[in-house]
Amino acid sequence: MSQYIKNLKAPIAIVGMGKSGDAAKRLLLACGVSAEDILTFDGKLASANFSDANKLMSEGKPQTLVVSPGVPLASVWIKDAQSRGIAITSEISLACSCLTSEKLIGVTGSVGKSTTVSLLQAGLEAFSKTGFVGGNLGIPFASYAADVVENKRPVADWVVLELSSYQLENCAGLVLDHSAITYFTSNHLERYDSIEHYYETKWNILGITKKTMLLNSEGGDLIEYSKGKSTNPQLKIISKTDPDLQSYQLQKAQLIGQHNQDNLALATALCREAGWPNAAVEGMKNFKGLSHRLENLGSVKGVRFINDSKATAMDSVIIAATAAADTLTTGGSLFLLLGGRDKNLPWEQLSVLSRMNHTEFVFFGECRDVAQGKSKLPGNSFARLEEAIAYIFSKVKTADTVLLSPGGTSWDEFKSFEDRGDFFKKKVTEFSTL
Ligand code: ADP
Repeated sequence: MSQYIKNLKAPIAIVGMGKSGDAAKRLLLACGVSAEDILTFDGKLASANFSDANKLMSEGKPQTLVVSPGVPLASVWIKDAQSRGIAITSEISLACSCLTSEKLIGVTGSVGKSTTVSLLQAGLEAFSKTGFVGGNLGIPFASYAADVVENKRPVADWVVLELSSYQLENCAGLVLDHSAITYFTSNHLERYDSIEHYYETKWNILGITKKTMLLNSEGGDLIEYSKGKSTNPQLKIISKTDPDLQSYQLQKAQLIGQHNQDNLALATALCREAGWPNAAVEGMKNFKGLSHRLENLGSVKGVRFINDSKATAMDSVIIAATAAADTLTTGGSLFLLLGGRDKNLPWEQLSVLSRMNHTEFVFFGECRDVAQGKSKLPGNSFARLEEAIAYIFSKVKTADTVLLSPGGTSWDEFKSFEDRGDFFKKKVTEFSTL
């Protein structure tokens, strides 16, 4: 059993009972902490022991708080507890205390984390039978640790973690062999007093990296920020134009878009630093994208289909449309499906797309008139996604691309963006039989 967990003072309160809190609880139990010594706190979840922080502290009297990333460490009551000597830890720290021979890679950034980590997962799966990928994305790190402690899985050769800035604020004991930062931009300022503080939190990953830390040369504010820091031999700036990376022919990858070429270059460079075999890079090149995020569905009857159902921000639509247009084959046209439900979106920002050649805009759903009116883009308009797709199917020809990157939410016709994307995929399958 982990000495660290054994030494935690009880009662231990898990603060925030989402995925990460659940996993922390499981790990504590797996490590022999008795159920009576574990308290759960969640402001919203009725099943938690406490939903009021004052009550938790006065009645539960916890001596240790395992704070989930969703709960700000800067909360007054947590600061107060800390000042009274109550230990603060996290799911990540608990998991780290159970590690044995695993080598670790950590990825952080404002955007691009999930894509880069998923690429690494595809790489790892190409050669490793035991590797674990998770963290902020997918399976919590503590679930992995609990599985190992309970002998439900073998110890991983490599662990790849997606790390949010919130996780990096509270990760004592985490030591990475290699790390990477994908991008810096002003996200999440609601939880930081300044952009400098936000970037600093992410930059802290350098202090817990033993070997190399890689930076994406196209990472927004990242390189400018790094220039203000003292030079450090551990740091390497990675560009998709680096000659040694070009030899991998990354442009032949399935993932589309220049930003994904940056993510792939970073992931490939990490592979090299880690000494992964070439099969890993091939595995990453074959990765088709996360579901519903610029997901390359491949070609049916010579027509390429891309599912970006998750795109409900104008930036994402512009990135997707540009990526699809940049990768059109000669003679091909792009059909871009726009619409869904409005959430007072700045559709006018899409007017830049009017400059795109060989592109037909097709509007659908509840907000079709608002979207078209504000963006001033030409094109046909349909009440339902199904009708818009049927129209496109009647017009497409070999070398064309159909992109669902709607901008609006899915809730006019569907339960979720996943549901909408799955509907699109079903229609694509039907297209093969038309
Ligand atoms: P995260 O997990 O950090 O939120 P994702 O990998 O899910 O990021 O990407 C979210 C969105 O961010 C993508 O759909 C794309 O629009 C944009 N994005 C991803 N990678 C990059 C990059 N390297 N540069 C610029 N934008 C990116």
